Amino acid sequence: MKKIIASTAWLLVLCLFAACHDDANNRKQPNVVMIYADDIGYSDVGVYGAALIPTPNIDKLAAEGIRFTDGHCAASTCSPSRYALLTGEMGFRKKITIQPVNAPALIQPGQFTLGSLFQQAGYQTAIIGKWHLGLGNGNMDWNKKITAGPNDVGFDYSFIIPSSNDRSPFVFVENDKVYKHDPNDPITVSLTPIHDSIPGTKYPDALENPESITVYQGDKNHQCSVINGVGRIGYMKGGKKALWKDVDIADNLVDKAKNFINRNDDKPFFLLLTTNDIHAPRLPHPRFKGATTLGYRGDNVVQLDWCVGQITELLKEKGLEENTIVIFSSDNGPVFIDGGYEDGSNEGGHDANGIYRGGKYSIYEGGTRVPFIIKWPGKIKPQVSSALVSQVDMLASFAHYFNITVPNITNLDTRNYWNALMGIDKKGAHVLIEQMNSDRGLALRKDHMKYIYFNNRGGELYDLDKDPSEENNILEQHPELSEKLHNELMRLKENHLNTVYGVE
Ligand code: CA
Repeated sequence: MKKIIASTAWLLVLCLFAACHDDANNRKQPNVVMIYADDIGYSDVGVYGAALIPTPNIDKLAAEGIRFTDGHCAASTCSPSRYALLTGEMGFRKKITIQPVNAPALIQPGQFTLGSLFQQAGYQTAIIGKWHLGLGNGNMDWNKKITAGPNDVGFDYSFIIPSSNDRSPFVFVENDKVYKHDPNDPITVSLTPIHDSIPGTKYPDALENPESITVYQGDKNHQCSVINGVGRIGYMKGGKKALWKDVDIADNLVDKAKNFINRNDDKPFFLLLTTNDIHAPRLPHPRFKGATTLGYRGDNVVQLDWCVGQITELLKEKGLEENTIVIFSSDNGPVFIDGGYEDGSNEGGHDANGIYRGGKYSIYEGGTRVPFIIKWPGKIKPQVSSALVSQVDMLASFAHYFNITVPNITNLDTRNYWNALMGIDKKGAHVLIEQMNSDRGLALRKDHMKYIYFNNRGGELYDLDKDPSEENNILEQHPELSEKLHNELMRLKENHLNTVYGVE
């Protein structure tokens, strides 16, 4: 009898071991691909209401995952928004605004980022696309190894547009070097005009050589070096072989993203694909020209949708679809003519911000309420969610999923809303700060109320349930509530969210 019990117990141990082992194999960490578009407004894609712009690939993601109707980027311009996504801290705390030519690195080596989190969880990490968070120390030699950059703050691989497609330098940087750098044609990058010591190395100057502008002139800030017929911010000389071609940028980024996925298909990976589309100057590849009746802006959205399709189809082909979380969102709201580039973009019956007020640069909902889609087959039930979610919370939410503690989290704004991101919690964040390019305007979202404070013109109060378009400022009708929300916003302006509310 004893012998039977002993062997049964042994068998049980063996079974448990086998079960655990199996479980560990089956629970391979999901890959995460975040496709982060530039300047895409709430209603710029079909599933969010863009009837005139076909976006079948983005619509399919939404149909198979969660489409958030109250999903936000952290700021209504690029640099503070991207900083918050990566670091979990609102950009206004560091006075971050749109970064100029030769801006130093905003994220210093040692600062914990979304990339660091995935690395700590055992992932291969990459950022491919626009960076615009500064590089180096502000006095950079573009012909040498570039530090600090994405590879120093959580990314194993990077292939970036250093700042933005409208400003110098007009080259990609792969890991820590200018891509296709030619030592015989050294690069100089400057915000001020460059002296042409070796004739022929300097690019035409928009003011000295107006005939070189064959595509777009741009406003007065964008009338420095002329590249590919377009005036830009800042100057550059040298690096002819390294110059990007605007019409090929989407293809270049997709190629690099596919290569990264192919290289890492046997281990968990995190890919942050920060597309150039649809930031001005807009120059879609000829195969997308005329894809819409809305000019190049609409055509560029179609190009963006093609990029999304290229990535999702590759994941499917490789059998990675089931175990990959795909996120699609944007870094800020929409803009039509930006940088003075008269590219013929027209509204033509298209509402880029839907029913929401404002767009890029604005503190109103159109500034930060953007498309926000998450797909994870088998784990997330397809649905539309009105939960309040923000990109600043990605860091704490994924940290929760991985059971990793974010260093110094009490001095950050990122909070864990994993259940909302997974479609389980239908409410999401109980509080959210919205910001424009700087802290000149900040807003507090609390329940259905939104309080805005402009440094130069005081407060405004809106009830988003009754007035989602923020047309009726009801501040004077609700003095007590306004004062309460004002005091809370001012407290949050001075203190991180986790300092005020504690870590959830
Ligand atoms: Ca942007």
